[in-house]
Amino acid sequence: MRLSKLFFKTFKENPNETEIISHQLLERAGYIRKLGKGLYIYTPLMWKVIRKISQIVREEMEKAGAQEVSLPLLHPKELWEKTGRWADFTAENLLYTLEDREGHEFCLAPTHEEVMTYLVSNWVTSYKQLPLNLFQIGPKFRDEIRPRFGLMRGKEFVMKDGYSFSDSPVMMEKQYEAMRHAYSEVFRRLSLNFVIVTAHGGKIGKGKSEEFQVVADIGEDLVMVCQDYASNVETTEAIPPPFTYASVEKEKKELPTPNVSSITDLAQFLNVAKELILKTMIYKLTFADKEEFVAIGIRGDRQVNEVKVGSHFSATEVALATDAEILGLTGSKPGFIGPLNLKLRFYADKTCKAMKNFVCAANIVDIHFINVNWGRDLPHPECDDFLLAEEGDECPHVEGGVYKAQRGIEVGHIFNLGTKYSEKLEATFQAEDAKTQPLWMGTYGIGIGRVAAAMVEQLHDEKGIIWPLNAAPFKIFITFATSKNPALVSKAEEVYTQLLEAGLEPLLDDRDERLGFKLKDSDLLGIPFKIIVGKSFTEEGKLEIESRKGEKQLIDVNDLLSWAHTLK
Ligand code: ATP
Ligand code: MG
Repeated sequence: MRLSKLFFKTFKENPNETEIISHQLLERAGYIRKLGKGLYIYTPLMWKVIRKISQIVREEMEKAGAQEVSLPLLHPKELWEKTGRWADFTAENLLYTLEDREGHEFCLAPTHEEVMTYLVSNWVTSYKQLPLNLFQIGPKFRDEIRPRFGLMRGKEFVMKDGYSFSDSPVMMEKQYEAMRHAYSEVFRRLSLNFVIVTAHGGKIGKGKSEEFQVVADIGEDLVMVCQDYASNVETTEAIPPPFTYASVEKEKKELPTPNVSSITDLAQFLNVAKELILKTMIYKLTFADKEEFVAIGIRGDRQVNEVKVGSHFSATEVALATDAEILGLTGSKPGFIGPLNLKLRFYADKTCKAMKNFVCAANIVDIHFINVNWGRDLPHPECDDFLLAEEGDECPHVEGGVYKAQRGIEVGHIFNLGTKYSEKLEATFQAEDAKTQPLWMGTYGIGIGRVAAAMVEQLHDEKGIIWPLNAAPFKIFITFATSKNPALVSKAEEVYTQLLEAGLEPLLDDRDERLGFKLKDSDLLGIPFKIIVGKSFTEEGKLEIESRKGEKQLIDVNDLLSWAHTLK
């Protein structure tokens, strides 16, 4: 490609409303152009990168035995109703819906479990056709609440989504492992620094699931890492530092606590450790067909993990109750909510079981009780794990291990779905014993655009992007030091033609601009190598080569191709 012909534009300044480096650089270097909130145009440069990443994904999928298909983006409502997800997605306002001329309702695909299972349920009848793994690479639509960070979280984005179908949990597990391996290969080939973390399945379901998280400070996810084990904080099981409670039960007492509503103030006011306070939070749970409120108790020094709350109750959404809702439900206000005299269902995090002589509220404003005890003043609570893990907590998966917190960008997600979808969509097969059984399914996604953004986030410097060779839109940038010297121009042309014919994807900067200006553009674009035909060529017949990371070398013009082939 000749730069004079390339449809591109670079900018000196960071565009408005760009908070993170990858978004800034991709816009500044002219890879993407914003069309609206969460909507981006991919320019020829970006599309080349997307295609390269997609190709690496495709190769690893095919190596693992998966086959590529292409599914419609417009999905009939009826199909989504069969799995109950029309209601789930609309409850979260994530779904784009529309009607056709006959009044039939559709959604723009946020994901493709339904359609893929529909296809397979029609064609797979026997165990002999299994396992089967199908994938596609294409757009998805989600009306995200907070589209931001450019390609990281769009309303329309490119995803690789794959689905496996198996005849048994054992075969399913093998498919899952094959995808886990394939994903690791993809992200390794793309030079990403990633961790595989135990995850929560979200709207999809409750089976085994892991995320591939790229380690980066701007990541939207919090990942708890303990040696070889890592999990998304949404699901992390953790043991908080223990607290020793007095063994003898003391007399329960009511105390005035005027305007003392935060845990910190209460601990100070009563001169007690926060671990002695039972904090109670009221949550509104949303289900497909109803809303409900519950109260969750947690040790005063800790926070409730809302994802765990959602999982426990199988709610589609969990939100803190508003002050008005709290008033209506308890007659009291935040800061004075507690299990005493509470008319709501009360659950406690399991660390609360050990609490003795604790402080809690009784839904009376400006009042707390001290020396409250389970079994005596309150029934033993129904407990589960509702704890939000924190750095320093003990990890139950590694003996003696303690968690460190890191931020991560979720670039991929693999999921064992079991038979949840196949049962609802009646996707069955005849097993070897002639019995009809539901298919065992797995679902696997990679955010292609998010991967590109994560790569920029990890690989850049003050000058611009640093693409690895296999994702760069062009591998080698060529230019002449000055257009005033025809010998340099024609040699640069020759180098370009040679590299083009050798399949090395060169980009010839044939613009009549200052050398420094041109090299700046090359750095901003992130082209891995630059070849400059200049003084060294005139004086000693040598080409100046500089890698994007700054390593310089001179090579004889006759050695050009042998050097270039080392890049392949
Ligand atoms: P997130 O928690 O970030 O919203 P998700 O759990 O909704 O992700 P999946 O449904 O598992 O994501 O989608 C598979 C992959 O698609 C994700 O791992 C991520 O890389 C990518 N992805 C999801 N939503 C978006 C989005 N709005 N924009 C860009 N990529 C996305
Ligand atoms: Mg999402």
